[in-house]
Amino acid sequence: MTKDKLEFLIPVYNEDTCLDHLMERLDRIKRDFTDVELSVLFINDGSSDNSLEKLIGYAQQYDYIRVIDLSRNFGHQFALTAGLDHCDADYVCIIDGDLQDPPELVKDLYNRAKQDSINVVYGQRSARAGESIFKKVTASFFYKTINVMCKTDIPRDTGDFRLIDRKVLTALKDMKESHRFIRGMVPWVGFKSEAFQYERDSRYAGETKYTLTKMLRFAMDGIFSFSRKPLRLASYLGIIVAFLGFLGMAYMIYLKLFTNDVVEGITIILVSIAIIGGVQLLMLGILGEYIGRIFEQSKDRPLYVIDNIYDGNEGSAKRMTDV
Ligand code: UDP
Ligand code: MG
Repeated sequence: MTKDKLEFLIPVYNEDTCLDHLMERLDRIKRDFTDVELSVLFINDGSSDNSLEKLIGYAQQYDYIRVIDLSRNFGHQFALTAGLDHCDADYVCIIDGDLQDPPELVKDLYNRAKQDSINVVYGQRSARAGESIFKKVTASFFYKTINVMCKTDIPRDTGDFRLIDRKVLTALKDMKESHRFIRGMVPWVGFKSEAFQYERDSRYAGETKYTLTKMLRFAMDGIFSFSRKPLRLASYLGIIVAFLGFLGMAYMIYLKLFTNDVVEGITIILVSIAIIGGVQLLMLGILGEYIGRIFEQSKDRPLYVIDNIYDGNEGSAKRMTDV
């Protein structure tokens, strides 16, 4: 019986302090886990440190390692997309390059998938070591919001660490949207999936590449790419503001007809203008988000550009392409 091909997909952006240790652990897994034909695909996402040199070195040393070098930093989700597009395996396991997702768990994920023919086994964090309270609170708020907003059920406390099979891989390759939110795209394609509880380690070395602004943009991408509900907000807010307006009008008519009081002054006018102006600007902003996305998508640009692919075959890293 031929063994399943299983490929690790690892995006790397300035992780040279983590790579040697990661490689050591991957090589141990390669030697121990012989149920599958294991390979590793690194995507260098425009690192400016020594990461690329290290990765090319690994590709030269080990024949099961390939490296895709992108022409610049495209971002985590695009690096993953480049990797997925170039994977041709029965199972793909996505992990981070900073060892927060223990690569050794691949055995458990694979066994789970095989046992009940599950197409996606996703890592769900039961503990998040080394993450600030701020990150935990914002993450929890984010997953709650996105699940209220979207029809697709996006599991909480789940990053991109997961094992997917060939069916899911093929479906993902067909999704060409320019705003990528892969942890939402996988549940969108469907198939049988199951959570796998694990404890997320803290970063082995280096610093997170997700700054607060990047995290916010990522969260917005998730919501705006998966939901049209914000657009409906205009109607809801319109109804609420109009209702308040009518109440105010009725109150003023009452004062005029049945009392000697009148509503005086400019305050009420200023407040109404501020409320209506604010609501309108908010809605313009939301419309702008969607129009911006249509604009990006209509340009139909490639999602990433590859500089070189280094393939470990024949013991030497050869340049496969010069794009
Ligand atoms: N990463 C990437 N391109 C980027 C940012 C991050 O390829 O522009 C990689 C990074 O090297 C790591 C993974 O994506 O392997 C997750 O990034 P990070 O650990 O910084 O995110 P966090 O775990 O803090 O959310
Ligand atoms: Mg990390």
